[in-house]
Amino acid sequence: MQNQKKKKVVVIGSGVAGITAAARLARSGIDVSLYEKNDFFGGKCSVIKENGYRFDCGPSIMLMLEIFEELFEHLGTSMTAENIKVLKCDPNCHIWFSDGNHFTTSTDLTHMKQQIEGFEGGGAFNSYLGFLQESQQHYEQSITHVLNKDFPNFGSLLRPRFLRYLFKLHPFHSVWQRASHFFRIHKVRQVFTIGSMYLGMSPLEIPGTYTLLQYAELTGGVWYPCGGFYRLFESLITVGQRFGAKYHSSSPVKRVVISEQNKVLGVTLESGKFVEADAVLVNADLLYAYENLLPEDPSTAGISTRGRDVSCSTISFYWSLSKKVPVLGIHNLFVDDSFGKGDRNVYWDPDDSVIPNFYIHIPSKIDETAAPPGKDAVNVLILVRNLEDSTTNDDITSRIIAKAREQVIFFIERRTGISNFKKLIENETFHQPSSWQKTFNATKGGVFGLKHNFFNILAFRPKMRHENFSGVYFAGASTHPGAGVPTCLAGAKLSAEEILKDLGANSSWSKPSSNERSLFDLLMQGNTMVALHDWGSVSLIIMSFFIFVGVMSYLKQ
Ligand SMILES: Cc1cc2nc3c(=O)[nH]c(=O)nc-3n(C[C@H](O)[C@H](O)[C@H](O)COP(=O)(O)OP(=O)(O)OC[C@H]3O[C@@H](n4cnc5c(N)ncnc54)[C@H](O)[C@@H]3O)c2cc1C
Repeated sequence: MQNQKKKKVVVIGSGVAGITAAARLARSGIDVSLYEKNDFFGGKCSVIKENGYRFDCGPSIMLMLEIFEELFEHLGTSMTAENIKVLKCDPNCHIWFSDGNHFTTSTDLTHMKQQIEGFEGGGAFNSYLGFLQESQQHYEQSITHVLNKDFPNFGSLLRPRFLRYLFKLHPFHSVWQRASHFFRIHKVRQVFTIGSMYLGMSPLEIPGTYTLLQYAELTGGVWYPCGGFYRLFESLITVGQRFGAKYHSSSPVKRVVISEQNKVLGVTLESGKFVEADAVLVNADLLYAYENLLPEDPSTAGISTRGRDVSCSTISFYWSLSKKVPVLGIHNLFVDDSFGKGDRNVYWDPDDSVIPNFYIHIPSKIDETAAPPGKDAVNVLILVRNLEDSTTNDDITSRIIAKAREQVIFFIERRTGISNFKKLIENETFHQPSSWQKTFNATKGGVFGLKHNFFNILAFRPKMRHENFSGVYFAGASTHPGAGVPTCLAGAKLSAEEILKDLGANSSWSKPSSNERSLFDLLMQGNTMVALHDWGSVSLIIMSFFIFVGVMSYLKQ
């Protein structure tokens, strides 16, 4: 048999999408080399270690366990086989309201009945079941028709099966509107819309479809990998290496090299070394990559204007405590009464008198390896404005950091009754917008890539394939399907499938997501008979299309 030369793929960046796409490609017989600028892997999902304390740098809420399980299975292994233990957090989350009231969410229905009816009164449990039923639709249909499908052009919005479900996904409503449909009490609405904060958005702005996050949490539960979130990706690097993938740290990429025929040739590293490739997968922040790694071309102009759509940032504190704080849970959300009212910004503005909404994660409550015995590791996250001007590196000053710290401590003490919390903090490190930008090349320090409002999702989100340069692909938070670890994993799978298809290789996993053709595609191919085989669908599609265009032009005004 002829000895075929292996195709070469370079991956730029070791975020969760980069690490997993590399492993998938390597298992499918590709010669993969990943280059990461930092001296550690994982990107925003890396780990921070300080004097026996361990913190998750970014993500800590592990939802949609089945996506992680599927990934390991596609790589011919399992979490158990790789010695990974995932623990279920129970309760899911503690929500601390501004008046000192407290709500805990759980996958346990009896617990939820008691909690909801305590706020809404008897009978409200039925509303909860109604909410779950609707958000289940959002979840199931999104997994099938969004997460596992590419949206390469606007025509792909016209896939018959997708259109059939479009209105059931409530993309033109907000998450807040959907929760308000089921619940009367402001605090309960807050509980069921708080997932919007996981994507850095206001519940008034994020499309109703995203109640799927709440559904995933309330039915599938919140999980935690022993050893921290990065433990999963450390293990996936080992799996990738087993298939021959090479992961290089401290190796920033300087440029993607494109031929005169607009075909990728490889990449140049900052060290000056040229690495040849048949395809390049960019996992580094997409806007940064267009501006800094890729040559200018007509598509660059369109992408640059999307700077205004970058998500918010965070001030994240990593505190080593001298003792345990029993009253707090593994996951805690401190919500101000203003959340869900009027203001579409969910981030804290230090110049306003607005009280911050913030999240606290204490991994040592579920995994004792996260802190020395008898102590707690505490990670606080406050959503803040991103760097408006990406050339300014220090517009979040130490004064603002101090104010954020002061406010968080004040509200922890006031709402939980813990006294002298400040005195428990033995050591602190933090991330702020400029450090997210500097450490990970995150445009404007935005931590969730591009926003997830209507005009930044599906076919509106930047494509996973470069429009003009063949052989250049993207995977990660700013491309389809979006930010969040499971979502990035789904995107990495789609990008890997595209690359394999273009290189004429087969994917090693059994069922590549089928790309159902849209009515538009079929008509463009002259396959009118196939396209028109179902008049019922066709009239539904045409009707939906006109409603869709109408709503879009209304929204764009
Ligand atoms: C504070 C915070 C909390 C979060 N909480 C959650 C959560 O609880 N649950 C959840 O599911 N998601 C959460 N997320 C979102 C989730 O972490 C991200 O969406 C996801 O990790 C992004 O992964 P990515 O693949 O896009 O890559 P990124 O993490 O953005 O990594 C890109 C990598 O590319 C590298 N790079 C950049 N430029 C170059 C270059 N020139 N050469 C080489 N390498 C380069 C960077 O250094 C980086 O390592 C959170 C994010 C943050 C920041």
